[in-house]
Amino acid sequence: GIGSQSQRGNKRDVLLGGLLVPGFDEQSCASRYQAAYYHKSMARRPSPYLIKRLREQEALQRRCGPGTEPYARASERLRSGQTDARDVDGCSYLVLISYRGLGNRMLAMASAFLYALLTGRVLLVDPGYGNTLADLFCEPFPGATWALPADFPLANFKELGEDAPESYGNVAVNRSGSVAGLRFVYLHLDHAASPASRLVYCDDHRQFLHRVQWVIIRTDQYMAPGLFFNPAYQEELGRLFPRKDSVFHLLSRYLLHPTNDIWGMVIRYYNSYLRNADERLGIQIRVFDTSRKPFQSVLDQILACASREHLLPAVATTGGAAPPALPAAGARSVAVLVTGLNSWYQESIREVYWTSATAGGEVVSVHQPSHEEYQIWFYSKHDMKALAEIYLLSLTDRIVTSGWSTFGYVGHGLGGHTPWVMFRPMNYSEPAPDPPCTRAMSMEPCSHGALSFECTRKEIDKVIDTGVLLPHVRPCEDMSWGLKLR
Ligand code: GDP
Repeated sequence: GIGSQSQRGNKRDVLLGGLLVPGFDEQSCASRYQAAYYHKSMARRPSPYLIKRLREQEALQRRCGPGTEPYARASERLRSGQTDARDVDGCSYLVLISYRGLGNRMLAMASAFLYALLTGRVLLVDPGYGNTLADLFCEPFPGATWALPADFPLANFKELGEDAPESYGNVAVNRSGSVAGLRFVYLHLDHAASPASRLVYCDDHRQFLHRVQWVIIRTDQYMAPGLFFNPAYQEELGRLFPRKDSVFHLLSRYLLHPTNDIWGMVIRYYNSYLRNADERLGIQIRVFDTSRKPFQSVLDQILACASREHLLPAVATTGGAAPPALPAAGARSVAVLVTGLNSWYQESIREVYWTSATAGGEVVSVHQPSHEEYQIWFYSKHDMKALAEIYLLSLTDRIVTSGWSTFGYVGHGLGGHTPWVMFRPMNYSEPAPDPPCTRAMSMEPCSHGALSFECTRKEIDKVIDTGVLLPHVRPCEDMSWGLKLR
């Protein structure tokens, strides 16, 4: 914790090995330089090449971003449709549409940033309904804003869908790559995108996309694994990430800094309930069911996973249990952080440790910051709690997550933890899956919509198993058609 570190006079590497730049105003975004005092050290160090490319991207965002003359000229070209006029500034843009839950949005932001870096584009993020972006995240680039300005000339860009004439799949398949007369190209990389839309993963720069100044992207998922299939990016990705198991960890720690209000919630909770424990266990509970009632099978699954994998202390078997004794000096304390929309699971786990002693004398406390009951999209108060909880999960030592949940992916990815993943039950009224969970292969999130064909063949009508093509991209533990870096 921050206290013991500063007492020992031990200075933390607040810039995370060069991932962050010094010189930001610390007051306006305390989390940026304070996070290093709360997280364990980075699971992986950034490569010198990644650091160099980040600095170049920051310079690009400053030179071409909102408020600059190049941005004014580029948005005028987009408004007027004069896309044939020569672009003298050398600025091109990637606009990310914000939609779906917070975990989805964070995976989308991190991977859209990677795509912008690979393609030399300025990343601009749609602030979302209710302008929630600025309530949630600090600006990541010094001297530039990443928020798409309110006067962005395409009024209805949020309604773009796969069937739009500008969509990449249409341009590639039905217009043989001709962008004549198009003001922009739209990339539809939603988790359920068609194979034609996913051709963009294979865009090799010699085709049409590099000629398009404005690209709008819709994604609700983690695109990074898909980008590794593109021969045009493989060498660059290898230099950026010599270890492929930590792409999200590094990018999220670089990009996603919670605002002061959220950071205050994080550190107050951490200092009150988690900091003094000998061990912190995170349990992220996500039930994909619209009814708000809790399910016994989900509790069974959590307890079975925790016991099988020795995550929670075992309780003394009743009957022969010894009578209560004075607490042993130095009894090990375990703080359990539960996150979820419903509080029943947390109450039930807590009751286990109230009504029974632990076999090893450990002292267990169980905490859950909120129980919002149901999910709401684009409501700042609700999203702020969600982000504080995702961040708190990242501060635990070991973590159990619910399969399929992007909320959980971000929690363990930010923290740099390889989680135990609980398999998603397809019917919560049935007994819990057996085995209940497994240790994941890496700290990376699972991509729910990578590609189903090879970039060298582009046979979009034939689904092949892309999880065997690259040594460092494998099927996810929790979703057989998902792909994940390791
Ligand atoms: P996913 O649906 O599990 O992939 O995760 P998302 O974060 O994309 O969407 C779920 C949304 O439900 C979140 O954005 C929150 O608004 C809400 N939510 C789900 N689980 C929790 C939780 O444990 N705590 C809080 N505060 N909100 C949650």
